[in-house]
Amino acid sequence: MKRYVDVILPLPLPKSFTYSLPDEYAEEVKIGCRVVVPFGRKKFYTAIVRNVHYCAPTEYEVKEISTLLDASPILLSNQFKFWEWIADYYLCTQGDVYKAALPSGLKLESETIVEYNPDFEADAPLPEREQRILDLLAVDSQQCVTKLEKDSGVKNILTAIKSLLDKEAIFVKEELKRTYKPKTEARVRLAGTADEKQLHILFDILSRAPKQLALLMKYVECSGILGNGTPKEISKKELLQRADVAPAVLNGLVDKKIFEIYYHEIGRLNKQEKEVVELNALNEFQQRAHDEIVQSFQEKNVCLLHGVTSSGKTEVYIHLIEETIRQGKQVLYLLPEIALTTQITERLQRVFGSRLGIYHSKFPDAERVEIWRKQLGENGYDIILGVRSSVFLPFQNLGLVIVDEEHENTYKQQDPAPRYHARSAAIVLAAMYGAKTLLGTATPSIETWQNAMDGKYGFVQLKERYKEIQLPEIIPVDIKELHRKKRMVGQFSPLLIQYMKEALEQKEQVILFQNRRGFAPMIECRTCGWVPKCKNCDVSLTYHKGINQLTCHYCGYTYQLPKACPACEGTELVNRGFGTEKIEDDIKVLFPEAAVARMDLDTTRTRSAYEKIIADFEQGKTDILIGTQMVSKGLDFDHVSIVGILNADTMLNYPDFRSYERAFQLMAQVAGRAGRKNKRGRVVLQTKSIEHPIIHQVIANDYEDMVNGQLAERQMFHYPPYYRLVYVYLKNHNEALLDQMAAVMANKLRAVFGNRVLGPDKPPVARIQTLFIKKIVVKIEQNAPMGRARELLLRIQREMIEDEHYKSLIIYYDVDPM
Ligand code: ADP
Ligand code: ZN
Ligand code: ZN
Repeated sequence: MKRYVDVILPLPLPKSFTYSLPDEYAEEVKIGCRVVVPFGRKKFYTAIVRNVHYCAPTEYEVKEISTLLDASPILLSNQFKFWEWIADYYLCTQGDVYKAALPSGLKLESETIVEYNPDFEADAPLPEREQRILDLLAVDSQQCVTKLEKDSGVKNILTAIKSLLDKEAIFVKEELKRTYKPKTEARVRLAGTADEKQLHILFDILSRAPKQLALLMKYVECSGILGNGTPKEISKKELLQRADVAPAVLNGLVDKKIFEIYYHEIGRLNKQEKEVVELNALNEFQQRAHDEIVQSFQEKNVCLLHGVTSSGKTEVYIHLIEETIRQGKQVLYLLPEIALTTQITERLQRVFGSRLGIYHSKFPDAERVEIWRKQLGENGYDIILGVRSSVFLPFQNLGLVIVDEEHENTYKQQDPAPRYHARSAAIVLAAMYGAKTLLGTATPSIETWQNAMDGKYGFVQLKERYKEIQLPEIIPVDIKELHRKKRMVGQFSPLLIQYMKEALEQKEQVILFQNRRGFAPMIECRTCGWVPKCKNCDVSLTYHKGINQLTCHYCGYTYQLPKACPACEGTELVNRGFGTEKIEDDIKVLFPEAAVARMDLDTTRTRSAYEKIIADFEQGKTDILIGTQMVSKGLDFDHVSIVGILNADTMLNYPDFRSYERAFQLMAQVAGRAGRKNKRGRVVLQTKSIEHPIIHQVIANDYEDMVNGQLAERQMFHYPPYYRLVYVYLKNHNEALLDQMAAVMANKLRAVFGNRVLGPDKPPVARIQTLFIKKIVVKIEQNAPMGRARELLLRIQREMIEDEHYKSLIIYYDVDPM
């Protein structure tokens, strides 16, 4: 009987598709294997087999799969369940999940290949663009379109290609591009047998080629042939190095058929065993917290560890990890930010050595493919440390998930779909494996706090810093007053400068926190008030002094700084506000002797860049570290005595219901970087809103006061955790059409969800990358049946998309938005 497979395609399609299996694969195809399938007129995709069965589809003519890529599944059954949960909960498709989940090296993508027709003769001169493409093809007869486009500089190359195709100057085909290539090593071995007699014959042959003879001797020495008589292989590189001869000598021996060279696949993953040390003993408080967590896991699947900064939460995790892997189970340790992985990696590697695997996007994709494959087998890592995407890795036997700094909003993926929250996803993932989840932080998210208070999660506290060092003293400085009296030095209050001076004199370090990157968030014409804006987005441009350009932080577009104002021709363009780059400049003037470093998105584009910033600061090569929220997160330095929060107000004034919670978390976290070892630290908190309740709560380190105040407001105004939010985003190039569509959508939503629907409104940034944006907010009671609400939302979205008038509309949901 004919067999069929249902597959998941890497496309935002709501359903799976069915293909027939050619007989040759009928026995081999398993659920979770990748297959190449034709789709549409000419395209091919790598799809994943979801199901194998005997039912021929009746609605469409079934096509056959082209190739089977795997002998064994690359996706385990729990992962399918997990994908289904994400697609279902976050209102996206499994294709969206597929695209986000797999490292690119496992997703072969189809590519158009253009081939030169050698028989082509032009009747007339070709248009310049076409000629340029043909010239390139004359050199390299086959090329993919993306490379041709890059090399030729022809924009929208497809029309030129179509015209060349019509003239039969070229052929076109679709091919799957393989990005993952196994890493190989060239090795050398003897071509023939290697007994002693044979070797002596070879020595005789080479008696008049002293260099070749020396190389052969070296080979014999290194590979240890004489020991047991079997010829051994040795890496070509090593042999050449040890023998200290040119490659030509080796080639000579290959030509004489004495040696042969072959390629051996080696992994990229670091296998080097570090010296493993004993775990640190927990102190009394940590031990108690540890025991309470273990206790709470008897009854509950999730536990919140609320521990003040530097209380040693990480040490508690390490003990729990050790116990979990001793039972033969795996651990997933999630971090909110790549910058944090460096320090935690070191701490974990010291204890767990090569049982630890690290997974994040700044790692080369090929390494990620190898980690994925390793996880599929019995020899997967015992511990995976990674950022949010590591929830998608295969696990055989997951026992514990740790979500460190669980309050961080970087756990939520914004764009593209799936817009999932890794904390929620981790909890669901753990449940699928019967594993436990530990959420750790000094400043829990309000949602998590509420779940702990309701008894849904276990709740454990660590109130003392390790060694009982006091939490830092927080000193508020009213900069409004100081500005008025003209006593500020740039962005620095006299108190901050004085403290910094004292700290530097005593060889202590300083962290300065400013939540904007770049030099000036805004440039303004002093005469007429003109502000340069991005042509694609509805935002003002940020001035970056280092590159002397204006850039848009939303689309990345860069602009030359105008010499004069285009509105009034005035030449006085002044900076408004200040970013990390400006702080760095000013600090260098104020403290010319100090070594200064900056950590923000602009200085940490590569893996090594942030590793170096952190290592330099750890080793005391840097005195002052300036940064955005990146410096607030969980970093552990020993000698920071002063932290400066330069301007608390931008955080407090941000228009979002979470801004107070977030401002508290940021300030408390960055303050927590001070005085972690040795002696009590000090934090200078500069603000214009000295009376603001959040400022008081930060000074008093009164998390509970903050949370209770916020909970009361959230309840009153119907926000999480009392209500679930779904944001509806609508985008279009045509603003008038968008307004109309958004109104229709809002009406449809109101018909179902009533007055729990707000908007449509313009979001704070109402145009990004030339698309106008409208947002509708849907509030759903926490205890309402979500399945039903989801169905309704999907139905309304479908109605909109299927309407001919709204073809150009982009519309998506953001569930539990941050
Ligand atoms: P948290 O994660 O709560 O911010 P950490 O685990 O980073 O705290 O601990 C703060 C510092 O104190 C770290 O440098 C850590 O090595 C040290 N520390 C905490 N607990 C212990 C312990 N039991 N033994 C030795 N060092 C500890
Ligand atoms: Zn002007
Ligand atoms: Zn832009």
